[in-house]
Amino acid sequence: MADYYETLGVEKSATDEQIKRAYKKLARQHHPDLNPGDPAAEKRFKDVAAAYEVLSDRERRARYDRFGTDTPNVGDPFGGGLGDIFEAFFGSGNGFGDHGQQRAAQRRGEDIEAHIDLDLTDVVFGGERDVDVRTAVRCEPCDGSGAQAGTSPTTCSECGGSGQVRRVRQSVLGQMVTASPCRDCGGAGERIENVCDECGGLGRTIQQRTYKVEVPVGVDDGTTLRLGGRGAVGMRGGAHGDLFVHVRVRPHPLFQRDGDDLVHGLYVPFTQVALGAEVEYQTLDGVETLVIPRGTESGTTFTFRNRGVPHVRGRGRGDLRVEIVVDVPDDLDEEQESLLRQFAEARGEAVAEPPHGLFSRIKSAFS
Ligand SMILES: [Zn+2]
Ligand SMILES: [Zn+2]
Repeated sequence: MADYYETLGVEKSATDEQIKRAYKKLARQHHPDLNPGDPAAEKRFKDVAAAYEVLSDRERRARYDRFGTDTPNVGDPFGGGLGDIFEAFFGSGNGFGDHGQQRAAQRRGEDIEAHIDLDLTDVVFGGERDVDVRTAVRCEPCDGSGAQAGTSPTTCSECGGSGQVRRVRQSVLGQMVTASPCRDCGGAGERIENVCDECGGLGRTIQQRTYKVEVPVGVDDGTTLRLGGRGAVGMRGGAHGDLFVHVRVRPHPLFQRDGDDLVHGLYVPFTQVALGAEVEYQTLDGVETLVIPRGTESGTTFTFRNRGVPHVRGRGRGDLRVEIVVDVPDDLDEEQESLLRQFAEARGEAVAEPPHGLFSRIKSAFS
């Protein structure tokens, strides 16, 4: 917990007047309207306000001095209470929202998360996926009201539907308003006489749901898709949250992704690179012909245009790059071994003697 005296930059022995002055100065300095888009300033502003709330109250200051803590009587100081203090201090229209305008019980539902596993072909050609989630959905019997069918909730007369009770008092800053949750309705802003049996008054129940997710072509591993309004429904008729779908792409056995290009290291027998060949090559789009010219070096890259991953933005696709890796056989049989030795001899290339045991058999084969 922050030290309130430190927050206001005053001594522990500071007089009420000094505390008030320090607060006014800091509050104006860090006011969010004067520091738009600066969350640090806003936080500082709230800290300053929280410190002043305690130190400006003789009783609460005494309790804080004695116990090093002060349990505020507002449940969540930033969930409404302080907003009202700002209002009192700086007047309305300060950009802090319209607390109490919306019925308290009708809060937006939670965001939910899910994930989908895709193959590279899904990424390249798109498609649909089902996503199963457990989520809060509108209670049918009460249509989300929380009240038994045929009845309806009534607006709480104590708080007028805001869920908060405000107390106004005079302070050094002028009128100061604090808010605390309404006791009559428990902060919901409305009262239900006959609670719906199905949902117990929440207006929503937990259910299994399956949503269809369109796979965006070109999507990358680790991307998160946002499906607006597919999250949990809010309590008692509140709006839906969002559904966030995390995308995982399984590695492909051959192709690696490099941006929107695909890369494949293709092993080609040394006879084919030496003599040239035309081989059938399986791209994601089907079988195509790969022409390997005579005398191709290891490391040479051949490109299939537009056989890569579609560009997420814009048209077209990346390429498929096939990098040639010369495959050297290590499983020669006797005949192949002797042919290769003859070949080396014809070219005058010195090669190692065959391992012991292999030599005599080869020799006898040719004698
Ligand atoms: Zn109330
Ligand atoms: Zn219900």
